[in-house]
Amino acid sequence: MSHIPTKLEVAAGLPLPAAQTLAGRFLVQPHSTLASDQEYARVMQDLHFGVDFSDYMASSVWTSDRGWADKELVPFGPLTLSPAASVLHYGQEVFEGLKAYRREDGSIWTFRPRFNAERFNHSARRLALPELPVEDFIASIVDLVAADGRWVPKQEGASLYLRPFMFASEPFLGVKPAHEITYLLIASPVGPYFAKGFGPVSIYVTREYHRAGLGGTGDAKTSGNYAASLLPQQIAYDQGYEQVCFLDSATSTNVDELGGMNVFVVYRDGVVRTPKLTGAILEGGTRSAIIQICEDKGIVVEESSINFDQLLEDIRAGVVTEVFACGTAAVITPVGKLGGDFGEVTLELGQVTRDLYDTLTGIQWGTVEDTHNWCYRIA
Ligand SMILES: *Cc1c(COP(=O)(O)O)cnc(C)c1O
Repeated sequence: MSHIPTKLEVAAGLPLPAAQTLAGRFLVQPHSTLASDQEYARVMQDLHFGVDFSDYMASSVWTSDRGWADKELVPFGPLTLSPAASVLHYGQEVFEGLKAYRREDGSIWTFRPRFNAERFNHSARRLALPELPVEDFIASIVDLVAADGRWVPKQEGASLYLRPFMFASEPFLGVKPAHEITYLLIASPVGPYFAKGFGPVSIYVTREYHRAGLGGTGDAKTSGNYAASLLPQQIAYDQGYEQVCFLDSATSTNVDELGGMNVFVVYRDGVVRTPKLTGAILEGGTRSAIIQICEDKGIVVEESSINFDQLLEDIRAGVVTEVFACGTAAVITPVGKLGGDFGEVTLELGQVTRDLYDTLTGIQWGTVEDTHNWCYRIA
């Protein structure tokens, strides 16, 4: 059975106006302290994930009276925020993550930005936040990259990580949706997400903690889900693992996802499985692209429940040959080890994982044909 497109995938497939026609919505404000050539060179020679930031940020403020207003590009820097700002108390916030890639010819592209724009609004609805028009979301990226172009790295595998987010900036301690919301887009030049690059990651499977439950906010990209994942992530780390994998909160038997990445399992007979979207799982754009690429390659993808004990048995019996995690930041990361109360199992980096990685990154970098029109030129 082939994959039935989700609401997000359908919305993400609608055409976008060209970048030039969106440019200029965010007005560039004077910047007196651009990073010096020296500082710029220091940052770009040694890229880390989310440590250094570009010169500007895009911003807009929504109020219930005016809607989205004051669209500007302002110097990246500290915010002025009331200590009573609602987000600091009740966590009314959503975010996105995508990348700008510089190709050989100097042009700059993003990957399925409309998926992120639509998901941003999906998340916003769940958090009782106002939706940001898709074209404003894209325009903020176009304008920021126009002003901050030098921060899109030239090195292979490096990119400018874009982090759009909005939060309740209204100073008010009452528990209700805020009447003042701030949207910001910040950007960070990044190397590969995992310091070791495309190497296997080790994962601790927790039965004790969950990141999200049914009817909760698991399918929204919101800070609280991450807050809930930090203690189990710390426990995983203390046990010598790099990442934590969560099981479903209702039964603690089925694989949900990692703290910030979706999971795929490759079977010996060539079938690929990924947990079906239950409402507690975040629908990844990388997950969506991988499902499509598998279909293009004639690989059968099943979206179903993946019982964790069965998975363990299948790994031990050699029925499952590869497991990988995926998300924008790390793209595709092979899982080399799974540990937990059951002991430990190990896996090899396999050919299916490698092929999917090569195809997906090839499309993103413009070296593999983009048959689904996923790439969007921003400069
Ligand atoms: C962002 C995120 C993902 C991956 O989504 P992509 O669109 O592929 O980057 C997966 N799980 C969670 C919890 C996330 O927040």
